[in-house]
Amino acid sequence: MPSDTPINLYDLTRPALGELLSGWGYRPHHRDVVWTGLYRQQARALDELQGLRPDLRSRLGEHTRLGHLTPHHETFSSDGHTHKLLLRLDDGQTIETVLMRFKGRATVCISTQAGCAMGCVFCATGQMGLSRHLSPGEIVGQVLHVQRILRESGESLRNVVLMGMGEPLHNYEHTMAAVDVLVDPLGLALGPRFITLSTVGVVPGIRRLADEDRPVQLAVSLHGATDAERAALVPAGRRWPLDELMDACRYYIDKRKRRIFFEWTLIAGRNDTVEHAQTLGRLLGGLDAHVNVIPLNPTVGYDGGPSQPASVRAFQDVLMSHGVPSTVRQRRGIDIDAGCGQLKSAVERRTRRSLPTSP
Ligand code: SF4
Repeated sequence: MPSDTPINLYDLTRPALGELLSGWGYRPHHRDVVWTGLYRQQARALDELQGLRPDLRSRLGEHTRLGHLTPHHETFSSDGHTHKLLLRLDDGQTIETVLMRFKGRATVCISTQAGCAMGCVFCATGQMGLSRHLSPGEIVGQVLHVQRILRESGESLRNVVLMGMGEPLHNYEHTMAAVDVLVDPLGLALGPRFITLSTVGVVPGIRRLADEDRPVQLAVSLHGATDAERAALVPAGRRWPLDELMDACRYYIDKRKRRIFFEWTLIAGRNDTVEHAQTLGRLLGGLDAHVNVIPLNPTVGYDGGPSQPASVRAFQDVLMSHGVPSTVRQRRGIDIDAGCGQLKSAVERRTRRSLPTSP
């Protein structure tokens, strides 16, 4: 029996939209008119879609909708480069999206889940747990939202990083449907080289990515180079130990002929010593790998602090001695809770404080 719930058009890839319309008797040309209206003209409502036959417009009005995300809260970093948004979904959940502008390039960091099941100890989202997966349209909707912001100032979006709330490979189908929409040449046409998917190391997902050749750059969060040290920071490391994870990474690199970026959050005294760097260098030496080292964004629920600049430099020197290149990623927007999940946590804390207490 057909569902009465209107379909969110942003949930559909172009082939899926084509199937819907061909089921109603329309040709691929009509699919492309709707598609360019959604993603090239970026119509805000169904009646803004241009060039539609009246019968198709009324059919769309009966069975579909455009699901927009509602701004709930936003903050700007003091340097003006980072704009953090808390966006509300239809069911009242909120997710974070971060727009970063530097040197004329704009990057958006988007969420793939409301909350996260992976439980990384230093991460405010991990401290919340998972509420639910996002739909493809809720993932794409974050990109559309920031594109509207950028258009007002004549800027355009270059990079998308799937590194916000959630583990993208834990929501594989919806994330990949969203990626297909983002790179579609008749729509947003974002460059596959400019979409980065960051995973905590979900081994089956990495192998599937390698087999399916999805148009993304892969980043793997390591944070520890022995199973015991990694599992203390990243509980998912108990499920997918390092030997399995590194086998999957080698499989990906061999099959796709593509470099993997490894993320290493540097936490003072916990994983930032020369010995830690030696272990990491031995683990990655010989692989087509690049390490992004990121001094920790402190969170309320974790007592660790960021590494000092001298420790960061020493860490990089050791990696280089193993032939492993690295880059220090800046902690942008630290004054606005820009680390993953921090704005949502801060807003919820403020809301709780302002609620009247029961007698
Ligand atoms: S760091 Fe990423 S994978 Fe880990 S808990 Fe946070 S959102 Fe989830």
